[in-house]
Amino acid sequence: MLIFSPTTIRSVNPQPLPYLSFSHSISLPLPLTSPPTPSKSPHFPSFHINCIDAAQPFDYESHLKNRYIQSTSLKIAIIGFGNFGQFLSKTFLRHHTLLAHSRTNYADLANHLGVSFYADPHDLFEQHPDVVLLSTSILSTETLLQKLPFQRLRRNTLFVDVLSVKEFPRNLFLKYLPPDFDILCTHPMFGPESGKTSWAGLPFVYDKVRIGDEESRIKRCDNFLDIFEKEGCRMVEMSCMEHDKYAAGSQFVTHTMGRVLEKFGLESSPINTKGYETLLNLVENTKGDSFDLYYGLFMYNQNALEQLERLDMAFESIKKDLFGRLHQVYRKQLFGDNNGEVEKKRSLAQQLLGNGSLTEPPLDNVRQDGS
Ligand code: NAP
Repeated sequence: MLIFSPTTIRSVNPQPLPYLSFSHSISLPLPLTSPPTPSKSPHFPSFHINCIDAAQPFDYESHLKNRYIQSTSLKIAIIGFGNFGQFLSKTFLRHHTLLAHSRTNYADLANHLGVSFYADPHDLFEQHPDVVLLSTSILSTETLLQKLPFQRLRRNTLFVDVLSVKEFPRNLFLKYLPPDFDILCTHPMFGPESGKTSWAGLPFVYDKVRIGDEESRIKRCDNFLDIFEKEGCRMVEMSCMEHDKYAAGSQFVTHTMGRVLEKFGLESSPINTKGYETLLNLVENTKGDSFDLYYGLFMYNQNALEQLERLDMAFESIKKDLFGRLHQVYRKQLFGDNNGEVEKKRSLAQQLLGNGSLTEPPLDNVRQDGS
């Protein structure tokens, strides 16, 4: 409701006020039947808004917007507030409420970001988050899942993981989570380095392993996926098994090469080529990741060992090509150029062979025939 109070206009040349104008560019007609004439009364009453104490028809739009934000906003609990958990939370916070728990106490850092930190997972789960997101190391996943107090959560909580391998957490979720929980396995295929400035165009792989039929559950899952979609990620829906097959051939090989080159000790020079810059970037992208992460890619993706062996074979084969050629050069230097001899022998053999018979009779035979 609007409350108006009469005030005195001190203007020398006051204008009649048929409309009250608001900053939203909405004008409302005032029910003034006979506007006072300045000539008759120099102190005619005007109206001044003292307060707005209830919802107005003109802020309907902003109410709708707020209601929409509330309906799509999720309460997300992140478990594992390390490198990747913190990175994700900075973007999640734009539209959602975040809670976190980790082995290490990150309370100060979390508070600074605007995330509520719970040192005890019981306290965290008593907040009844809509989504629980697992961002712990691949290696610690099973031990952790065995300890989490699921009984404190709401019956149909959505569980999400962001592990860099997919079949492994999928199977663990199906094994340890109560049957009423929804399961979404995801892999944002970027990290704090590659997704530093933007997530636009970066691949996000997901598999809706188990999402209940109810509209609210479907919507909750879609709202979560929307975070990545709205950031412009390339959304790729595929099974966990397919993911692991592709990822071993791409991501694991990338990490391996990055680590090999880091050990090798690449250094920038004043004459870096574009190719060399790519190698330096590769090292930069992978060196921030923990060895636990890399070891997890190897241990818990059954395709990784095969890829490592293929890499090894490819390296050996290239070395053979190089050393093979080097060997020829070395032989030439040791024994001189005997190519002429070899060529003569080869052409003689070609002359002698023709359907298993002699093409040209040897000179000795000719002589015998003539005799
Ligand atoms: P990480 O070394 O794979 O994991 C570190 C996280 O795991 C920290 O939150 C750490 O907790 C927790 N953790 C480690 N050992 C634990 C244990 N024994 N018990 C409980 N928690 C334990 O590094 P990350 O980069 O943060 O990756 C987290 C997850 O995201 C991994 O599964 C990884 O595959 C995935 N991911 C990472 C990237 C990336 O670019 N980094 C990209 C996509 C997906 P504390 O910090 O409290 O010790």
